[in-house]
Amino acid sequence: MADLNDTTDYFMHFKDQRLKSFKNWPFEDGRCCAEKLADAGFYHIPSDQSPDATRCFACYKELDGWEPDDDPWAEHKKHSPNCAFLKMGVPVEQLTVQELMKFEIKRQVCRMVRRKHWMAPHT
Ligand SMILES: [Zn+2]
Repeated sequence: MADLNDTTDYFMHFKDQRLKSFKNWPFEDGRCCAEKLADAGFYHIPSDQSPDATRCFACYKELDGWEPDDDPWAEHKKHSPNCAFLKMGVPVEQLTVQELMKFEIKRQVCRMVRRKHWMAPHT
């Protein structure tokens, strides 16, 4: 899987940014097209080993091996039931500033958990 990349990951709150991340996505339409994945919070983090790897901007869950009939929302829920974005139920654009701040804190905690090996003390 691709490393966390500050410049990429930071700007993935909005669906249009996530949608732009999908390059050479194999499914043009149907349940698992780039649009539906972006809707469900995912953006594209392709690597040589996993050309269809995706990451949720909120919980940082990474999923790959997508099939054309996969439902991105259902897969998201199955693999990351506590995702703050899933629980919110509305797009980030519709949050108040206060709600956004609460959301951002949860997001940063997920990010830190994901990066914890980077924070191990250097000896
Ligand atoms: Zn998520």
